[in-house]
Amino acid sequence: MAQLDTREKLAILADAAKYDASCASSGTSKRDSAGGKGLGSTEGMGICHAYAPDGRCISLLKILLTNSCIFDCHYCINRKSSNVRRARFTVEEVVQLTLNFYKRNYIEGLFLSSGIIRSSNYTMEQIVEIARQLREVHDFRGYIHLKTIPDADPELMRAAGLYADRVSINVELPTTNGLKRLAPEKDGGRIEGAMGGMKTAIEDGRDAKKRYKSAPKYAPAGQSTQMIVGADAASDGDIIVKASSLYDRFHMRRVYYSAFSPIPDASAVLPLKSPPLMREHRLYQSDWLMRFYGFQPREVVAATDDGMLPLDIDPKLAWALKFRDSFPVDINRAPREMLLRVPGLGTKAVGAILSSRRYRNLRLEDVARLTQSVRKIRPFISCVGWSPGRTTDLADLKALIVPKREQLELFAA
Ligand code: SF4
Repeated sequence: MAQLDTREKLAILADAAKYDASCASSGTSKRDSAGGKGLGSTEGMGICHAYAPDGRCISLLKILLTNSCIFDCHYCINRKSSNVRRARFTVEEVVQLTLNFYKRNYIEGLFLSSGIIRSSNYTMEQIVEIARQLREVHDFRGYIHLKTIPDADPELMRAAGLYADRVSINVELPTTNGLKRLAPEKDGGRIEGAMGGMKTAIEDGRDAKKRYKSAPKYAPAGQSTQMIVGADAASDGDIIVKASSLYDRFHMRRVYYSAFSPIPDASAVLPLKSPPLMREHRLYQSDWLMRFYGFQPREVVAATDDGMLPLDIDPKLAWALKFRDSFPVDINRAPREMLLRVPGLGTKAVGAILSSRRYRNLRLEDVARLTQSVRKIRPFISCVGWSPGRTTDLADLKALIVPKREQLELFAA
């Protein structure tokens, strides 16, 4: 490997880290100035924006320890057979970069991932050592998100949670077949075993903290994972079912969906084109429905055509159009669970409706004041002085709620 200075390494290893979605961008790129260097710029080299568990948007130094790897996952730009320029930080370099950026107020934390060098254990030891030095030697109080390596020794995995706020283990692909085909050196059983071990360690840490005030915090922001979308033949239904099982079995805080993007010198087993970005967006919406709106995965899947979520309308509207006989929902009497099924009604609006209707029966004007757009809601609700009548023609209703122009814009997005 050619000798590179820290700045050159940072350019390579920050760029290589951009493929990781599990430290999600806050979508502030519009305010960025050319080259990401101007006044008020939100995107410096290696700096990304993510949401902390308390909902704050924080900036993180997002880098790889190295983009060299002994594995050869087909979809990955850093795979062994890839022809990319390689670089590798030392433990001290990552520690110093993090501290320098932190002291200058560029970042509030570190997101660290890595290719596998020498062995899973060796790489994991380096990752843990960086976090240990930051916490124990430099008393670093910022946020740390460590991407861990499922094949590493369980003791090393446990140590990661002692220093990190959040740990993540990538599930990579939604099906066992997909994993075998595209990441033959990875083992689905070992990945899930590591997630199970992390879940137990997080729960033990939480119990210890309840009993003893002095017990150390253990991965207080929980664990997350990431699935690649569109690199294999898995349908949205497969992805939704897999995500739901990961939430249930391993208490994931988040499952991230990352649309596959073609890479240079790609293997012939990969598709030539990335899936529409809207597909990734619809999967995030379905994830939201399961976590906050009480939808079961089979219900989200029931609203799909051939297992694929429609791209032109969101999955909640798709469900409502398919199950028209569940509507209209009586705004003044329906339980919370049914109000949450109404397209266009979010959790906040439902909360506002429930509080207001305690004092009086609501009319359509009242609902309009409590929601963002009554146009989308109207066909699915009844209230004092309003009933949608027999609006049963699916195509007409869709056109009424999502005008043609808006549907086209969604496709463009
Ligand atoms: S192990 Fe990780 S870094 Fe290495 S090739 Fe596979 S996905 Fe890429």
